Amino acid sequence: MKYPADRYPLWNDWRWQMQNRVRDAASLARWIPLSDAEREEIENCTVRFRMAVTPYFLSLIDPADPDDPIRRQCIVSSKELIRSEVEKSDHLDEGGRSVTPHIVHRYPDRVLLLATMQCGMYCRHCTRRRIVGESDMTPTVEELDRELDYIRAHPAIRDVLISGGDPLTLPTPRLEEIIRLLRAIPHVDIIRIGTRIPCVLPMRVDGELVSMLKKYHPLWINVQYNHPRELTPESEEALRKLADAGIPLGNQSVLLKGINDDPETMKELLLRLVHDRVRPYYLYQCDLAEGTGHFRTPVSKGIEILHALQGNISGFAVPKYVIDAPGGGGKVPFVYDYARGTEDGRILFENYEGKLFSYPENGGSTDV
Ligand SMILES: *Cc1c(COP(=O)(O)O)cnc(C)c1O
Ligand code: SF4
Repeated sequence: MKYPADRYPLWNDWRWQMQNRVRDAASLARWIPLSDAEREEIENCTVRFRMAVTPYFLSLIDPADPDDPIRRQCIVSSKELIRSEVEKSDHLDEGGRSVTPHIVHRYPDRVLLLATMQCGMYCRHCTRRRIVGESDMTPTVEELDRELDYIRAHPAIRDVLISGGDPLTLPTPRLEEIIRLLRAIPHVDIIRIGTRIPCVLPMRVDGELVSMLKKYHPLWINVQYNHPRELTPESEEALRKLADAGIPLGNQSVLLKGINDDPETMKELLLRLVHDRVRPYYLYQCDLAEGTGHFRTPVSKGIEILHALQGNISGFAVPKYVIDAPGGGGKVPFVYDYARGTEDGRILFENYEGKLFSYPENGGSTDV
């Protein structure tokens, strides 16, 4: 359904979009038709889990399709109330890896900085759903500045990933203060921002934001698109502004059952992203976050999808398929195994078409 922007004079104002987010069944019913059963389902679920959807993202829903891929990512479902025994609330042990209240240090050379817990929209599959939206978890700049002492004291940290929550929900001057503090640390080389804003609230990517960000290069941004229908003209315009500011863009998708778990949908998404100058970075196996069982596919599904794409589309259009190891082990790539054993000192392997090839195991080296 398309809502003409002229019916809402402030449609392109990101603050209007944030203030008018739909949080309950009654206000959702003003945008899309709901049956009594759907209304009751939403009322029961919003007691347990937070919902907030921008009018912009809602306008992408096809109201006639109960399994619409946009709708399933943003509207609460009674399936979220089902808790599977494999799920834990802090399944990645981010609590255990926290070195300060808002810094998670899991890898040798980089840290995650949780700059805010607010998001443009609360994704139904969110891995941090236990904490997103808790406004009292958002630190002040002064608190963050004190926490940054940890980074200042650890010269091995050369890459800081600002995430949350969604850092682009912060007012631009406040975000700039955080980035400026990080830039002032000599050993911090790369600053990264993880955000879903270009997808769920593209009007937030305004001239003020982009001219601020481009002062702090090398700065990278990772976005999250899960379905080709999210790449609307408005969203592509936001990506264009970021790319034109010289910001390398990556995409982190989540593999979601019934939404993007087939090679055709995934291919359409990936090719559209590279058209928009966004390099597909990760495809995540859906984490074991509470109440997300209905989104999870078998691991073999992810491997199969990447196997179907590898070789058939440009190499840079193919992301890495990763599992974020439960308990805090970090991200681990999973790949189709092309090796088919060895024969007479040669390794046998398949190519992307499944044809068999071989290569001398020792490289046929002449330097012995
Ligand atoms: C994902 C993640 C990073 C960044 O990892 P990359 O693989 O470099 O993108 C850093 N810290 C934490 C805690 C993370 O979860
Ligand atoms: S934008 Fe990111 S942090 Fe926020 S709800 Fe969506 S997945 Fe979670």
